[in-house]
Amino acid sequence: MNRFFKDKVIVVTGASSGIGEAMAREYAKMGAKVVMCARREEELKRIAQEIESTGDKVAYCACDVVKEEECKHLMDVAVEKFGGIDILICNAGLSMRALFDECDLKVLHRLMDVNFWGTVNCTKYALPWIQKSKGSIVGISSVAGIHGLPGRTGYSASKYAMTGFLDTIRVENLKKGVHVMTACPGFTASNVRFSALTADGTQQGETPRDEAKMMTPEQVAHIVAKGIRRRKRLCLMEWEGRGTHLLKKFFPALVDKLFYAVMVNEPDSPLK
Ligand code: NDP
Repeated sequence: MNRFFKDKVIVVTGASSGIGEAMAREYAKMGAKVVMCARREEELKRIAQEIESTGDKVAYCACDVVKEEECKHLMDVAVEKFGGIDILICNAGLSMRALFDECDLKVLHRLMDVNFWGTVNCTKYALPWIQKSKGSIVGISSVAGIHGLPGRTGYSASKYAMTGFLDTIRVENLKKGVHVMTACPGFTASNVRFSALTADGTQQGETPRDEAKMMTPEQVAHIVAKGIRRRKRLCLMEWEGRGTHLLKKFFPALVDKLFYAVMVNEPDSPLK
């Protein structure tokens, strides 16, 4: 794996915490030149200093993926600093928790802006470089991007949209050597549930699930790395992803019932 990642230029969005931070740290350790982005520059600076202190190569750039011109600047920084882009990982993301009936539509707009448009904006300005390097574009989707997760309409819709967009980018670039992968982690311990939006658009500020029982961001980073090296199109993880993907093909109504059962049993579930 280290030989594959050595000197690859990897742009990771949403690298100031959770899965993105774990990917930045792990891939830099494997010899990649990592460019991290997120909105919280102080966090990026702290993580970059820790990565650099072990001699690994990293750069960072404050960037709100919702803003097209900032995504363009991010790719310019990557190219100026390291000479090109081999891998783009569209990981920056936001979740929600509210029934659609009760939800202000601004929540769904925001989810689409960050998760879908963030992916589109970054892909737009990284694609010419990835075509040149015959590299990879990776979207960090979710099991909620395979099947509708109740209480997460905007989240599931934005992840499905990401998949549709990236699938089409793959086909358009079939003869150009570009690898496109959608990765679908299950529940992973991170800030995502703390920052998730409620029905009125305010942050949830707490997690309704036991974070200790989830996958770690480091496990996700490792599985994504293997998927990139094997140039997979779909990267599933553990039973949540593999089981959902398989069951949905043959028993979609059963998956509806299973997803309902899992989510109705969350503390303070909006389904109750
Ligand atoms: P975190 O909340 O820990 O990380 C989210 C990252 O996205 C942060 O670095 C945040 O940085 C960044 N971000 C959010 N909004 C923006 C924005 N507008 N512009 C730039 N960066 C932004 O959550 P995770 O690590 O869990 O999430 C990473 C990805 O994994 C997401 O796409 C999420 O949907 C997906 N995922 C997570 C799962 C989980 O259970 N944790 C399960 C399945 C998928 P900052 O606030 O500094 O901008």
